[in-house]
Amino acid sequence: MPMGRVMFGKALLVLPALLLVSASPTHFTPTAPPVTQLLKACDQKDGWADPAPPARIDGQVYYVGTCGITVLLIASPQGHILIDSSPAEAAPLVLANIRRLGLDPRDVKWLLASHAHFDHVGGMAALQFATGAQVAALPAQARELESGTVASDDPQFGLIDHGIRTVKVTRLLRDGETIRVGLNRITPIATPGHTRGSTSWVIRGCGARNCAAIVYADSASTPAADGYRFSDHPAWVAQYRRGVARIAVLPCSLLVTPHPGQSALFERFAGDAPLADKEGCKRYAESSLAKFEERLAKERSAK
Ligand SMILES: [Zn+2]
Repeated sequence: MPMGRVMFGKALLVLPALLLVSASPTHFTPTAPPVTQLLKACDQKDGWADPAPPARIDGQVYYVGTCGITVLLIASPQGHILIDSSPAEAAPLVLANIRRLGLDPRDVKWLLASHAHFDHVGGMAALQFATGAQVAALPAQARELESGTVASDDPQFGLIDHGIRTVKVTRLLRDGETIRVGLNRITPIATPGHTRGSTSWVIRGCGARNCAAIVYADSASTPAADGYRFSDHPAWVAQYRRGVARIAVLPCSLLVTPHPGQSALFERFAGDAPLADKEGCKRYAESSLAKFEERLAKERSAK
């Protein structure tokens, strides 16, 4: 109830209670609709701007993205962290989902990203404007976010739209450096390969009863522009192999990926497989690497 509508006599009683609510993590209760609503909205749909309602993943970590693009909100009474933003046209859907949880987008303190392709960060400038949040990134990703494109030696340079509205990165992170907001902690791990600035995030999102341990592993697929041969770029190949090797050994209890389908998130939401799976990161890394090695072998045999 807005304070303006509270009768003066009652306000004296209500005010201390409100202060207690906003200060105490135990009373911090964003409300997500049942996950069945998301499953229904996204049945047979995986469009990047197909609207999906928000859903709670675990602890204070919420899915606030679309049917085809993951956006994660890590909430706390002291402020929130948002990872990824969806394409530009879906940014209003993300803001609406944050509000639907009963939270104020202006309480988002940090905007982070998996990788700087327009389907994941196209909406970041709009979200920065709406939230007033700061953007933090590892140096390689910061260059991509601030230029609105991947580097000219990136295998996908020229393949994808590289007209992303740029954002100013206000905090350069070191690999493994932890951002803290309230009880929540989030740590970037450089996992280059899909882009040079590809970043995976280790998330501890704490609610009143438990802390969710989630790995947000970046895309590890390896599309490339026409005519690009990975076998001509041994440094990129080595970098990719190091990146997936890091994903494989992340402290994985619950895997989430930038496209929900990459890790069958909605199928797990539906109960077809356990939501939490300690082997999830390892399997994801191994299957991505196997596809990459297959591509390399085809390149070699085509020589
Ligand atoms: Zn991508």
